[in-house]
Amino acid sequence: MTSFADARKALQRGETDCETLVSSFLARIRERNPSLNAFISVDEADALAQARRLDRSPDVDLPLKGLALAVKDVICMKGRRVTCSSRMLEQFESLYDATAIERLRAAGAIFVGKTNCDEFAMGSSNETSYFGPVRNPANAEYVPGGSSGGSAAAVAAGLCHAALGTDTGGSIRQPAAHCGVAGLKPTYGRVSRNGLVAFASSFDCMGPIGQSVEDCALLLNHMAGRDERDSTSASARVPDYAQALTGDVRGVRIGLPKEYFADGLDDGIRSMIEECVRGLEREGAIVREVSLPRTEYGVAAYYILTTAEASSNLARYDGIRYGHRAAPGELRGALRSEQAAVSGANGESAGERLDAESMLREFYTASRTEGFGDEVKRRIMLGAYVLSSGYYEAYYAKGQQARTLIRNDFDAVFEEVDALVTPATPAPPFRLGSRVDDPMAMYLGDVYTVPANLAGVPGLVVPLGLHPAPPRLPIGMQILGPHFGEETILRIGDMAERLQR
Ligand code: GLN
Repeated sequence: MTSFADARKALQRGETDCETLVSSFLARIRERNPSLNAFISVDEADALAQARRLDRSPDVDLPLKGLALAVKDVICMKGRRVTCSSRMLEQFESLYDATAIERLRAAGAIFVGKTNCDEFAMGSSNETSYFGPVRNPANAEYVPGGSSGGSAAAVAAGLCHAALGTDTGGSIRQPAAHCGVAGLKPTYGRVSRNGLVAFASSFDCMGPIGQSVEDCALLLNHMAGRDERDSTSASARVPDYAQALTGDVRGVRIGLPKEYFADGLDDGIRSMIEECVRGLEREGAIVREVSLPRTEYGVAAYYILTTAEASSNLARYDGIRYGHRAAPGELRGALRSEQAAVSGANGESAGERLDAESMLREFYTASRTEGFGDEVKRRIMLGAYVLSSGYYEAYYAKGQQARTLIRNDFDAVFEEVDALVTPATPAPPFRLGSRVDDPMAMYLGDVYTVPANLAGVPGLVVPLGLHPAPPRLPIGMQILGPHFGEETILRIGDMAERLQR
């Protein structure tokens, strides 16, 4: 499989053109997508038109010219559906391009389609999508990971050069690990969230998934940076991330947090990481054990805080302002009752008004019941509960305190080391269907990825090859860095890739 960096060289030498590249990806999508279910929508004619436009202007040497890019279907592209893999938004068309899309388009990227994911990015296996599960390209009986499973599977199966994912608690890194590709969750605020449908706004990050660390760096170059349309976007300088891949890790201080290598970690994964770390040490990295003592509170704090934010963010989908509407008959009834409720202010009896309100409530309930799947409903209920008066202090406020402590852990450890190397997941990919009825087991699988989102620090996953035990599925390793430490973790990840070549 060629990386974009290699395709770019071929393009520059005139050995191929954008149309040829895109046509071959479209052919592969036609062939493999029916079984993988990685894409929700592909607009072939539009992708080819974008490619031809770029081919017709050969003197414009755009940095990402010819990059065939897939986009997770929670990111807005003007005039395209953005479903969030939910029945709620099945027919919803986006009115504008996300900032990252605008920037990547201007840099020469070609958008081939929108990828499947867990519904509203809630999940770790890509089984909560209204459009059905995505399958792992390495073995169709296994999950590709989630929630950006379609994006990771599309890259792993060679259906595009790279893909955009989003990561609220691991959704770029975990599917990258399960599919055997590279994936970067940038520092919170490094990439604008404008045009990304919100799940948990203080956690959500958009980032690249690619065949190589270099491809992730090239994409980040054109995604990062301050955006007036996202007040939480950072104005920190955007370096050339590809320049950071020097192949030199001499003197880089790497910490192995002992809490990430404790009981519960699969032995095969542990030994693959240890082997890679020994390689980095041979290249001159300085490795030592460190501690992040509050790691054990990560999953609990994450599921309290993100469900709280989700319950608020998803309140807008009520069938009237946005989203799926319950059957037209009920809608007419509800609208009539809304009018009645308004006119009720002018003399209607209290009883009639109550009746009108309850009909409207029924309509909201019907629209939301039909529009959302089980996992989304579970999170809305959990979030409403932890925010409710009486429980707020016990859950939400405590969760915020735990978040601060976890962030302090990272701040302290990055005084001692430049980066952390950890597993991405406690276990290899699991069988489709094996955890769908056990949300706790699913949530606990996020133990190594959620702390980075709680703290806002960047995390990169690099593939390490295949697990030693059958069915020999892909395994990834996570590299975490301090805020805006993307260059360091990309350099280490690139080195880890070189060691495997
Ligand atoms: N698996 C986590 C969850 O279900 C992370 C999801 C994400 O990063 N979008 O919340």
